[in-house]
Amino acid sequence: MKVIVATKNRHKLTEFSRILGPLGYRLVSQEEVCPGIEVEEDGATFLENARKKALEIFRRTGLPTIADDSGLCVDALDGAPGVHSARYADDEGTGHDDKANNKKLLRELAGVPMEERTARFVCAISFVLGEEDLVECQGTCEGHIAFTEQGDNGFGYDPLFLVEGGSFASISGAEKDRVSHRGNALRKLQALLEERRDIAAEEEPGFTTI
Ligand code: IMP
Repeated sequence: MKVIVATKNRHKLTEFSRILGPLGYRLVSQEEVCPGIEVEEDGATFLENARKKALEIFRRTGLPTIADDSGLCVDALDGAPGVHSARYADDEGTGHDDKANNKKLLRELAGVPMEERTARFVCAISFVLGEEDLVECQGTCEGHIAFTEQGDNGFGYDPLFLVEGGSFASISGAEKDRVSHRGNALRKLQALLEERRDIAAEEEPGFTTI
């Protein structure tokens, strides 16, 4: 089944492909089918934002569309940056800038000891198959915020997010998928889709989905 991924983030697209690709879903970036679309992420929750992004692209393409909205919630900061994770340092005039976001996070947590630097990544997924046919779920991953950036893999807050084995930026993609918020959310999605007999990931031979 061809599925549009409503994101411009190539790292997210890679993670979606690593997990859903082997299950038979053929993932296509929104940029390939309707380039240049910006969806304002003004929802109060991750799920509201994910649903808004997926519905917008579904309405323009008529194709099954999946979107995630994700972010980092730090306990010592009352859940910040939360739904504002992508633009956390925007008040400093940076726009969406991972380096600036990480710098700000370290500054906000200055003096906070490791045992109080607990945090979780959250990933909400909305898979829109029809205007009133949405499959939705959420995944989380618990960790700690490091004192300094560690590793060069991944994106966003990965260099600061510590799980067993190191930061998300210092472990392999496969290791990240095994424990990550996105991995957990996509595995839940897979279970929900398996309950649906009308949805086939793999295309039948000779049958073409648009
Ligand atoms: P959005 O879901 O595109 O609105 O943005 C999510 C933001 O949260 C990203 O820009 C990152 O800053 C952060 N984020 C979400 N998932 C991850 C992840 O797996 N690793 C690192 N940062 C992430």
